[in-house]
Amino acid sequence: MHGRPRLKPVTLHGSDGQLILWQRALKRIHIDDSSGSIKAILQILAIGEYPVSELGRAMAERGFAVSAEEIAAVLSALDDLGVLEDADGDDVLDDAARERHQSNLRFYDLFARLGRTSASFHQSVARSRVLLLGAGGLGSGILQSLVGLGVGEVTLVDIDIVETKNLARQFVYGLGAVGRPKVTAARDWAASYSSGTMVRPVHQRIADAAAVVTLGAGADIVVCAIDTPDDIHLIVNEACFTLGVPFVAGGLSYSTLSYWSVEPGRTPCRLCLERHRGDEALTLPPILRQPPLIEPRPVNRATGPVVQLISGLMSMEVTRYLTRADPPVAAAAYQVIELADRMETSCAPWQQHPECRLCAAANPPVPARAGSLHSVGAGR
Ligand SMILES: [Zn+2]
Repeated sequence: MHGRPRLKPVTLHGSDGQLILWQRALKRIHIDDSSGSIKAILQILAIGEYPVSELGRAMAERGFAVSAEEIAAVLSALDDLGVLEDADGDDVLDDAARERHQSNLRFYDLFARLGRTSASFHQSVARSRVLLLGAGGLGSGILQSLVGLGVGEVTLVDIDIVETKNLARQFVYGLGAVGRPKVTAARDWAASYSSGTMVRPVHQRIADAAAVVTLGAGADIVVCAIDTPDDIHLIVNEACFTLGVPFVAGGLSYSTLSYWSVEPGRTPCRLCLERHRGDEALTLPPILRQPPLIEPRPVNRATGPVVQLISGLMSMEVTRYLTRADPPVAAAAYQVIELADRMETSCAPWQQHPECRLCAAANPPVPARAGSLHSVGAGR
């Protein structure tokens, strides 16, 4: 059994044989406790000082005779409710890591259990290597989050030079960076911010899947934060099947923010979605199958808050893959925020396409998903 079990920070109310564990704003757990023994063990666990082997004695001191099996059963039930943590869990980290990453650790507490400590989630992040394509609005914001989380290594790829117009939203760059390659300026920012993340700058344009495969050797995940060439998402999709790692992508199209992820061999892939869109295009009314009379001018509406929002959401999806603390929320599903419609959110999952050559060749085969395909206009 694990170290010293401790009750996570919760509020406990009790009266007349009833207990209410107030876990979070909209989640209360009701427990019948006619004997008062549950209240007693929760109070003991809130202290967090006792190893499992001493819980029986602590209960006896409060007038409750309980067996080791009963203690184990209660701990297992409470752990299933997600209200217990290992009070010694952080001890595997040195003082500097515990100090610097204390808010990261406390975030992981939400998903920790007696056998899965917050420190273990942090260690997974600290060991990880990320290939980050793009150091613009999205990519630079994601880089900031990855460095703050303590990701071990980031290979950062971009061809652009810092321009004054970038400074409205790309906060890793200052006036002194104008005229420099984004990747080296971002590398210098990261070095000034934390020695815990090594940023490897690559001043290069991505042209094909082979380039992504080469750059992604050894990476645990790929993040696509660029929008060129036009088929970049299919390029990254193909490369990630070769690399055998998931990828996260996202962006802003007109007024629609979206992000999504793919785990090759486990979820429907980006090529599946392309095939579905091809099928749907055949069902459009004739007027929509004609070339448009007018196409919109390309504009960039990505303000600082907009890129911080989508960068944060994408970074959280990356963290879910790196830690597996919580399942990905955007796997084969567009998570959408409509900026022009009061930030309305929606989710549009897609299914495996029967003619997707990548998923067909994947081993193990991709399981069928529940739900229906939605046509999503955001991104590609
Ligand atoms: Zn597929």
